[in-house]
Order: sequence, then C-alpha cells, then structure tokens
Amino acid sequence: MPYMPYSPKGPARPNASRLRGGASGAEGVSEPARQRDAAIIARLKGELSAQAEMIREQAVSLAHSRKIFDRASAAARIGVWECSLPDETLHWTDVVYDLFDLPRGALPDRQRTLACYPPECRKALEVMRSRAIEERSGFALDCEITTFAGRNRWIRITATVECEDGVPVRIFGMKQDITEEKILSDRMRYLAEFDVMTGLANRGQFQARLSQAEQAGPGTVGALLLIDLDGFKAVNDTYGHVVGDDCLKEAAARLGAVCQGADLVARVGGDEFAVLLGPHLDRGAVSDLARGAIDAMAEPVNVRGHSLKLGASIGVAFVDAGAMCDLFMKADTALYAAKAAGRNTFRIFKPDTRPKGRRAAAA
Ligand code: GH3
Ligand code: MG
Repeated sequence: MPYMPYSPKGPARPNASRLRGGASGAEGVSEPARQRDAAIIARLKGELSAQAEMIREQAVSLAHSRKIFDRASAAARIGVWECSLPDETLHWTDVVYDLFDLPRGALPDRQRTLACYPPECRKALEVMRSRAIEERSGFALDCEITTFAGRNRWIRITATVECEDGVPVRIFGMKQDITEEKILSDRMRYLAEFDVMTGLANRGQFQARLSQAEQAGPGTVGALLLIDLDGFKAVNDTYGHVVGDDCLKEAAARLGAVCQGADLVARVGGDEFAVLLGPHLDRGAVSDLARGAIDAMAEPVNVRGHSLKLGASIGVAFVDAGAMCDLFMKADTALYAAKAAGRNTFRIFKPDTRPKGRRAAAA
C-alpha cells in the first residue's frame, strides 16, 4: 500500500474534545490526535513489515530459482560467461570455472584463457568473435581445450553481442561441456564407417567412396582390387570362430601394410577385402601390389598356439574408359576367375572375362 503522509489539514480536523482542553503534555496534543498518530504509525509499521515480508519471500524465491538454475546448469555442465567491451573484463558462473579447472571466484583473464585453446581453434574463435562484434550478432563454436589443470575437454561456446545505443558493450553466452557427446558422436561415426574387428574401413565407407568417385568422374580412381581369403571356412570349422577372427585381423593388418599408398583399404564382407587405388599406378605397379598381397597372405599366421596357412585370391579391375559403376562387378568377375584358376593368384578383368556364378551381382 502506498504511504499517505499525515496531514493536519486532512480529514483529521480538530474535534470537540481537543477544543475542550483535552490537551496533554507541553506540546498541547490532544488525546484523540495522539491516538490518530499512534494508529497511523501502527498502520505504517504494518505496511513496512508487510513489505519486509514480501521482500523476504522474494529473496527466498530468488534463492530457490538460483539454486534450481545452479543445479540445472551444473547437471547440464553449462556455464554463463560475459566479457565487457572493449576492456575485456570477464565474468563467469561457477560451471565455467569448473570447465577450465580454475578455482571458483578467481579473476579470469581472457588472454590466459585463450591459451587453453589449440591455435586453429583460437584463430577461428577470434575471427567469429570479431565478425559478431562488427555485425552485432553472435556465433557458436565447438572447441577442444586443455584446461589449466592439463585436462582435455570439448566445449560448445555460444555468444551474443549486446549493444547500448547501437554500440557493442558486452559479449556474453554459454559454455557447455560436450566431451561425452563428442566421444559418443565420434564413436557413432566410427561405427558407421569402420569395421570394428579389423579397424579397416567398412563396406558402407567403401561404397560411399565408390559413389563419390563415380560422381566426381574420371581421374579419381585408377583400379579396384577385391581380395578374398581361400578356404577360410575350413579355418573356422577346424579351429573355431575366435581363431578365425584373429586370422581376419592378421589378414587385414597385412593387407594394410602392403597397400599403404592405397586410397582406401576396406573389409567389405566376411573374408573379403577391397582396395581402391588412385589413377597414378600403371598396370605393372598394380600387378606388383596384387602379387605382394598374395605373398603376404601366404605367410603362416601364428594364432593362439596354431600356425596356420591362409592364402588369398584377387580380382583386379581398372577404370579405363569403362563406367565406374561397373568397377565392382568387373573386379568381382576377375576374382571369380582367380578362384576358378586354382586360388592363391590374381586375375585382371578383361572384357571377355565372363561373369560367372554367385559373385557377379555383388555391389
Ligand atoms: P573360398 O575359398 O571360395 O573363398 O571359400 P571360403 O572357405 O573362404 O569361404 P567363403 O569365402 O565363401 O565364405 C567366407 C567365410 O568366412 C564364411 C564364414 O564361415 C566366414 N566368416 C564370415 N565372416 C566371419 C567373421 O566375422 N569371423 C569369422 N571367424 N569367420 C567369418
Ligand atoms: Mg573366402
């Protein structure tokens, strides 16, 4: 309630008792007047205590909201930062201190903080920040930092420029710990593109690369090698799948070592691998590589106390003037021809190599 100052000219006109000499004390204030004053003071006290109670309730509610915000922000690992312009004084909430492993409440320094970012990230950050200030806009950036305690963390920075009378006066936003999210998304990307058992590219990545090359046109891919282990079922049947898996890992490692300069080495099936080669290798070099892969596979594999002999057959197809979309089919046809020729050898696709049996429709 608004405070109404007491006015002797107001409704409280002198009454009869006051005129009759009801004054008391040296001031000559009548009893009713004193009672009115007392009532006004009591009312004011009441109003003040109601206001005090309201402020107390607001403080409690504010403290509660603050607690909820702090808890939510700590749970989400999101902190708020603010940098005044142009003096670059920083203000951080607790989570930002925690993200950088700085004691809460320490005076953050922008230049020292920037040293936590790797050079390329720092550069990107400065470019985006300058542009945001110039355009009075904002930005978002994911960065890996090395904290003041030497820990590595991924953080997501969002920023907004605040202006007064059109002049940027501060830049503020949030910093969020996205380390777990980043690990998870990296893992998912890895699973989508790589074969977990051998660590080679998987069939999905191989096919994506082949389609990219098809779209890019001639000159991106020179040749494709399809490698299939010989008689591998027998390894599984005789020694079990665990030994079989170890053989596949060893075969993948050997192929990777032989084909180090290849554009892509992938596991495209159970015991089948693919190697994409650039256009710089001539037929002789590609044949040498195929022979090298066969020799490497023929070396005994020592697995869990067993010395096993693997062996592989290879089909080779060159891009030549033919369409890229036929490349897999051609290499597969050549592989089938190598198997038919007795295995442990390679064949290069020629137009008169007739597609046979199960393999021709593969990709
Ligand atoms: P070929 O000489 O004609 O190539 O015959 P193969 O015995 O090598 O058998 P094929 O290539 O036709 O089939 C591949 C076999 O590889 C089938 C399956 O037993 C085995 N295999 C497929 N995937 C895996 C795997 O992940 N681990 C293990 N241990 N074996 C696998
Ligand atoms: Mg096989």
